[in-house]
Amino acid sequence: MSAERETLSIIIPAYNEAGNIRRMAQALRETMTREKISAAVYFVDDGSRDGTWEAIAAAAENWDMVRGVRFSRNFGKEAAIFAGLEAAVGDCCAVMDCDMQHPVQALVRMYRLWEQGFEVVEGVKEDRGRENFLYKSMSAIFYKLMSAAVKMDMSRASDFKLLDRKAVDALVALPERSTFFRALSGWVGYRTASVGFRVQERAEGESKWTTMGLIKYAVNSIVSFTTKPLYLVMGMGMLFLILAVIQGIECLVTYATHRAVEGFTTVILIELIIGSIVMLSLGIIGGYVAKIYEEVKGRHRYVVSSTIGLPSRRERDHDAL
Ligand code: UDP
Ligand code: MG
Repeated sequence: MSAERETLSIIIPAYNEAGNIRRMAQALRETMTREKISAAVYFVDDGSRDGTWEAIAAAAENWDMVRGVRFSRNFGKEAAIFAGLEAAVGDCCAVMDCDMQHPVQALVRMYRLWEQGFEVVEGVKEDRGRENFLYKSMSAIFYKLMSAAVKMDMSRASDFKLLDRKAVDALVALPERSTFFRALSGWVGYRTASVGFRVQERAEGESKWTTMGLIKYAVNSIVSFTTKPLYLVMGMGMLFLILAVIQGIECLVTYATHRAVEGFTTVILIELIIGSIVMLSLGIIGGYVAKIYEEVKGRHRYVVSSTIGLPSRRERDHDAL
């Protein structure tokens, strides 16, 4: 383990990024040396099936400020970010992608803002890079919902951030398992600044997101960040109760005046509408029940299979004594 302790810890989740590790390490080393920033890079290999881990080991050979955490399988980017935050020891921590989409130059600007006393520096997308139509429209809906939930504009938010030690400690101490890092940095509060950046083209390989993966991510983020949908169900229930009372009175009146029957279409329509709303509501409630179940199990967010340049847990506990 290197004796040097960094000021800035750069956390990079990597899933099947073998071709990008060297490039990232090199770019960061050059820039950090030029800017005289004492930095260490934490690559978190999220269960890659290509040579990512070997590439991280090679990068660590070349530069003693490279550290690595390897997961036993793919646990997802959120888990990888948190593993990095937990391992990092710097006075501030930055999180960036492994594919050069987050420019290193913007990281330097974030760091300078941190030096000026800002505790949370958000990377804000100035444009969204190249995305297809479906992706664009789906993400627009998702960000509308999330922005309403978080009460801030999420449409240009990214996972590219720099956090002061205080904010990192606050995030790492959260007991919850399923997190939404992008919004949590706003949730912790603190003095916040933002740095605009243009999303670059991906250096090598392709985006790791599948459509199903994105939908799961969106649902998970909403469910773990807001209970609004539950109140929406309650609201729908009330609205339908009011309608039911009106319809009920009308029904009784027609019955009393012997003008019943007819209205078959109305019955079918009401049946269909109520049926779907009940199912939808059950689904929403089910989503939250599932979340409670998962949280209550209290499983680890991830399982580490090996590390590079990091003290083992036992050593760390010993240091703390
Ligand atoms: N990533 C990860 N685990 C995953 C999927 C992605 O650690 O299960 C990492 C990936 O290696 C990259 C970052 O998260 O560093 C962003 O992924 P990607 O570029 O595929 O997403 P996009 O930029 O298209 O949103
Ligand atoms: Mg990318």
